[in-house]
Amino acid sequence: MHHFIRAVKLVKCEKCGKPVKPHSVCSYCGFFRGREIINVLAKLEKKEKKKREKEIAEQKKVEENKESEKKESK
Ligand SMILES: [Zn+2]
Repeated sequence: MHHFIRAVKLVKCEKCGKPVKPHSVCSYCGFFRGREIINVLAKLEKKEKKKREKEIAEQKKVEENKESEKKESK
């Protein structure tokens, strides 16, 4: 038997796609259920903020592409 299965089941953040605990605010982007709960970016240094904004934007693009693929296949 492997023990890693008992780890907390994570869900994907709707905003940035990072694994987050269910029913918790995402510590990466500060969003929960489509609303910004914590302004995580404001606490970061400019350089880190840029990087994170870019990552979140890229993730959004990926999700959008997935959606359009689904539509096309129908
Ligand atoms: Zn997030």
